[in-house]
Formats: sequence, C-alpha cells, structure tokens
Amino acid sequence: MVQGSLGEPGVTLGTKGRCRFCGETDPRTFRNVAHTLPEAFGNKWVTSLDECDACNARFGAFDDALVKSMGAILTVGGTQGKGNKVRQTGRTNGPASIRHQIVDGQRSISMRANGTPFSDHFGVNFKTGELVFRISGGTERFVPAKAYRALVKMAVALLPDDELPNFTKIIDWLGSPDDDLLPHMAVGISFSIIGNSPPLLAAALLRRASVSRDTPYMLFVTTMGSVCLQIVLKANALDGAWPSRLRTRPNIRWTNLLAPPGEEPLALAYDAPVHLDWGRAGLEPPVIEAIVTAVHPQTAQGRMTAVLRQSALASPP
Ligand SMILES: [Zn+2]
Repeated sequence: MVQGSLGEPGVTLGTKGRCRFCGETDPRTFRNVAHTLPEAFGNKWVTSLDECDACNARFGAFDDALVKSMGAILTVGGTQGKGNKVRQTGRTNGPASIRHQIVDGQRSISMRANGTPFSDHFGVNFKTGELVFRISGGTERFVPAKAYRALVKMAVALLPDDELPNFTKIIDWLGSPDDDLLPHMAVGISFSIIGNSPPLLAAALLRRASVSRDTPYMLFVTTMGSVCLQIVLKANALDGAWPSRLRTRPNIRWTNLLAPPGEEPLALAYDAPVHLDWGRAGLEPPVIEAIVTAVHPQTAQGRMTAVLRQSALASPP
C-alpha cells in the first residue's frame, strides 16, 4: 500500500534501471517524472522510478480517459491537478458547465445551463425542504477500455517484484491495442464527501489468503480524493487459465483514517461500490451523468451527490 496527503513527503516506487512495463533499460529514456496515480486526481506524492518515458507517454492517454470519465467530480471537489490547477467541466457558453474558482480565499463553485428548461435543473424536495439543483456531468466522451487500462497500470506499478512473474500477461496486455478486450472488465466505484475533495490518496493491493478460487488472487483499490476505484488485477493462471473468466467483482468498503498529531482521528468512509462495465472500446459519455446539489434555505447546509449514468453500470452477474 502507498499513501500520500497534503504536507506529507513524497514516496517513490520501484528501482531505477529497468522499466517494469516494457523492459527498457536505456537510462536516457527515464527523464520524465512518472506519476504512479494520475496527477489530475491530485497525486503530488507517489511516483515510479521504473516507468520509462515511452510507457509514461502512452499511459498518459489512459489517465486522460479516466479523468474524462468523471471530470465533474474533480471540478466540484476542487481537486488540484498539474500546476495546482482545478479542472473545469464544460464550456461557459456550452449546454452545461461547472466552474471552480477561488474568490477572496474561498472556494466557489458555479454551475450554468444553457438552452434547457429551468425545470430540468431546479426543484424542491418537499420532504426535506431543500432546494435541489441538477447539472450535467459534462459532455466530453471517453473510452472505457482505456480508463480501465489506467487502473491496471496503477496496480502493476504497485506489485512487489516477487509478484511480477504472476502478472506478465496483463502487463503485455497493457501494450496491446485498445480494442483488445478482456472478459469481465468490471470496475467498482464509490464516493466520499463529493464537493470537497480531501487532499489525500491511497492505493493498495490485496492478495488472496483464502483457499477459495472464487476469490480473485489480487485486488487493487485506490482512493483519490472523493472517489474510490477498484478492480480485480487479472493474474496469469491464479484465477484460472488466461484470460480469467472469474466473475467475482471487487467489493471493498474502504475507509481512510486521518490522524493528524494531537487531533481526534477522522474516518473518511467511502460508500459501498457499484460496478461499471469498462470492457467497451467505443467513445461513451462520462460515468457521472449529473451532480445534484441540495441546499436547505434556512440552514444553508448543503450536500452534493453524483448521479451515475445507468448505461455505464455493469449488468448483474
Ligand atoms: Zn517502458
């Protein structure tokens, strides 16, 4: 497991000298800083020494797909990516946009819709008395199979050296064409405090300890700010013959426990995951269909939720 958060020192993974993805050994091809988890998701802490520049460039397209799949979460969370910039969603004059700004030192989120009826975006919850605003999660499309590869890449970067021989097939697969799909490319997704992305991340591999072969050999879970993502990292032969047809889905309820010195520990719990089907190689709209903000007019208390696009969900196993 690796973790990073605001104020903590950086962590480097792997040993210099050989790319764990393609085997490159030329020292001149290790000039770029390789972020183990995408910089756009707020990773300022965890980098890999054993990812060559060519692989790094290729993986950039995977990270980009992952960002586009849920960009609205990064905007409303105020997640600081490269150069501490916050990604904006949509164009101001487009059908829908979400803007994050710092105004007088305070975070400010504005949402705008053009050309659609007011009633599509605003309502009242008569049970709670809350005013409810709904805005589209953006229109930038992404290729699910590429975003899945971004998760596989992160998982492989975390593998201990003695596990690499068990995962040579999925590492080779990372270099194959995008439309080369594997069976059951399910991704677990869940959230914690949308609208105020905690400046922290964690990534972990969980290895099978039971004798049951229905349990996947290796799970990968990462929490980056408000979002938790998880996959089964498909092994060469430990989940059955390659490519594994194991249907078990990753189902971890993750909690980050923050314990600043001298303060009460704070539990940051992520919801139970729902599952996306990312075994698709065509362009699709973002996983986040809409961001819903409910505000109580008397207390000014508000909360944000993400509405997942139904068509992005995996059908029941
Ligand atoms: Zn490489």
